Amino acid sequence: MSDKTQNKQNSPNFFTKMDLKPVINGQSWVTRLGGSIMPPAVLQSMADASSIFVDIVELNKKAGEIIARHTTAEAGIVTAGCSSAQLLQAAACITGCDANLIGKLPNTRGLSRNIVIQKSHENHYDTSYKFAGAKLVSIGSRKFGATIDQLIQSITSETVAIAFIWHLRFHGLSFEEVVEVAHSKNIPVIVDAAAELPPVDNLSKIIAKGADMVAFSGGKGIQGPQGTGILAGKKHLIDAAMANMLSFDEPKANIGRPMKVTKEEIIGLLTALEIFVDTDHDTVWAKWNEKSTTIVKAAENFIGIEGQVVVAPDRQGPVAVFNFTPSWDGPTVKNLLQELRDGDPSIWLQGNEEAREIAVVPVNIQDGEEVTISIALKKIFHKYGTYRS
Ligand SMILES: *Cc1c(COP(=O)(O)O)cnc(C)c1O
Repeated sequence: MSDKTQNKQNSPNFFTKMDLKPVINGQSWVTRLGGSIMPPAVLQSMADASSIFVDIVELNKKAGEIIARHTTAEAGIVTAGCSSAQLLQAAACITGCDANLIGKLPNTRGLSRNIVIQKSHENHYDTSYKFAGAKLVSIGSRKFGATIDQLIQSITSETVAIAFIWHLRFHGLSFEEVVEVAHSKNIPVIVDAAAELPPVDNLSKIIAKGADMVAFSGGKGIQGPQGTGILAGKKHLIDAAMANMLSFDEPKANIGRPMKVTKEEIIGLLTALEIFVDTDHDTVWAKWNEKSTTIVKAAENFIGIEGQVVVAPDRQGPVAVFNFTPSWDGPTVKNLLQELRDGDPSIWLQGNEEAREIAVVPVNIQDGEEVTISIALKKIFHKYGTYRS
């Protein structure tokens, strides 16, 4: 069976009807390609949840107890993605549980609303804090991070939180340093750790290290519904976040209303979370390693391409990495990636033009697709490259 027919057969009816081409995802748990693939038990739990009515506020509160257990936080809720959890973090820190203030957002006139962030942590997701009406106060520089003095000086009577983006590639003040300063001034630390699962340890580690609230994506490494997220933390803050998200008390209008989660999504996320914590991640890791090993073989014997399986502190697991040395005289990384995307099947890989690198992240590569990727890469290397004699 050719790759083409295989891909067509796996494609759901509706995709075919819409003339949509499924893609092979070598880019990781990226939003653009659909996050992750939910285990069958997650889908079943969502179908089951769909057949009943339930008080959605009660449901999310109970879900929060389960999240609290897994994160060792005092409380938790299921949110509409990590971005929505970030917005609710900001809202909770601005309003607390004051119903009047909750009804006012995003109008923050007269309210303290500053959230301090290191410039080296800024990214396009921190806009979510601003949607709640917060003002970001950035300190330090992108290149050098920030100093403890800069952090101390940035905290004023207007400060409601310090944001920390937990990300393998971000640098700056350590989490411990930020927590120490923040807590000495009674300011909560709010964390975006969207894509930092696995490792499973991070579920509880970030809370244990002093985060007042932490947010994770539900549709990345946890493999829950793509539209979900987890927010966990101190009870008074989670209560405030919940009131900002979905409140049927007066005033009912609130900032989180456009980001509701359904009963199916809540149950699906919880099921995914339980599967995630019970998974033997050493076995998963070994499989990623095996797939990466298959993929790097595509570069064997080509002049100007070095393929290797890389395990590094700034990557979440083993990754197949191809480096194009100066003796490669084929197309640029960007053009190679485009050609692979345009191919059949369409293959999406990570690239870094500056580093002359293509990376194949195995976490979302379904069994067998590693062979398809390896063949496609070999073909394209052969088209433009030369074999070592
Ligand atoms: C993916 C991501 C988000 C957004 O998460 P969603 O669950 O898609 O809303 C926020 N921050 C970072 C660092 C991310 O990687």
